[in-house]
Amino acid sequence: MTPPDAAHDGPCLLLDLQALADNWRTVCAACPASRVGAVVKGDAYGLGVAQIVPTLWELGCRDFWLATADEALRVRACLPGDAPACGLRLWLLDGLGGHDARDLAGEGLIPALAGPHEAALLGGASSCAGAPLPVAVHLDTGLSRLGFGARDLALLQPRAELWRVARPLLWLTHLGRFHDPEAPQCLHQRELFLRWTAQLPPAARSIATSSSVFAGPGWHFDHVRAGSALWGVPTSVRVQAPLRPVAHLHAPVLRVAEVEAGTEIGYAGNHVTDRARRIATIALGYGDGLPFGLVNRGQLIVAGRSASIVGGVAMGMLALDVSDFALGEVRPGQWVEVYGARQPLATLAAAAGVAPNVLLMLTSRLARRRVARAAAPVAEPAL
Ligand SMILES: *Cc1c(COP(=O)(O)O)cnc(C)c1O
Repeated sequence: MTPPDAAHDGPCLLLDLQALADNWRTVCAACPASRVGAVVKGDAYGLGVAQIVPTLWELGCRDFWLATADEALRVRACLPGDAPACGLRLWLLDGLGGHDARDLAGEGLIPALAGPHEAALLGGASSCAGAPLPVAVHLDTGLSRLGFGARDLALLQPRAELWRVARPLLWLTHLGRFHDPEAPQCLHQRELFLRWTAQLPPAARSIATSSSVFAGPGWHFDHVRAGSALWGVPTSVRVQAPLRPVAHLHAPVLRVAEVEAGTEIGYAGNHVTDRARRIATIALGYGDGLPFGLVNRGQLIVAGRSASIVGGVAMGMLALDVSDFALGEVRPGQWVEVYGARQPLATLAAAAGVAPNVLLMLTSRLARRRVARAAAPVAEPAL
């Protein structure tokens, strides 16, 4: 996949919606007995909910996980007006987020209660009449980030006050070593989750994120919360799942020049040529989300081959050493692959010293142009 035309206004992000569809099916096939919810927080990890969410909806996804109510309303706005009547469920990972629980319920949003203080807030609303509000409840089995811990469980017992005003739809917990579910700490978290939920009112249970999708049925429970796997971003240290990259970032060549030995490349002489070299200037920099870890490190793909980044990362430019390419093989206006089909996102992220999702969020969120390559049955938007 390369950008479609010769005109270029900076980097271009292509979304391969066919790959998204394939990854969705791969995830669903790996946990056939569970419901799969798509985690689309952070504007679908920077990919843009406007294209990602309707595609997932058409594939049959009905559960979407967001951080905040604000994000959830933006997701709902991308979907058909009758989506709430067609099974849409919008879950809030951050909990109430300072909102009135009844307001959230009125919008059809389901908060994952973030801790005892949120049970107290809900209890405070108990004087208001009305049906119990649907909630998920976060259990803190070890990450120490969100949820009810061991000492808070009395607040959730079947006879607890909370259940006069709320109705539990789902218990969830999140693994501290999500990338390695077989780690003893994760097994301990699962053990606690099983023990705790056995004493609590019955509701669906959820532990799995992308990496536990491929760690076997012992992790799947009723509901799987998958983000990274849907975009083809690897998160497991053990399993190489057959996922395809959804995000393909390209940037144009602005100039190609022959330089002499001893030439400083980029600001402040970060790199000095050892001999005569051919240098291509690429329209991509920290203003597009590229980390400084790529100063003099990492490679981009030009004409199907790797070329090394030399010198610094400026706001909108960097340099590639293309001395090994034939004269004229690299030309101004040509598209260079930053990550995608030939260079995995994870490879460039490793060179930059960041996790793949960090690089994805930085660069895709800021990409100046997005083009969706679909994927029947989703219509291809006009450029
Ligand atoms: C972000 C997040 C997920 C999704 O994780 P992936 O590894 O991207 O699938 C699931 N659950 C919680 C609580 C999260 O914060």
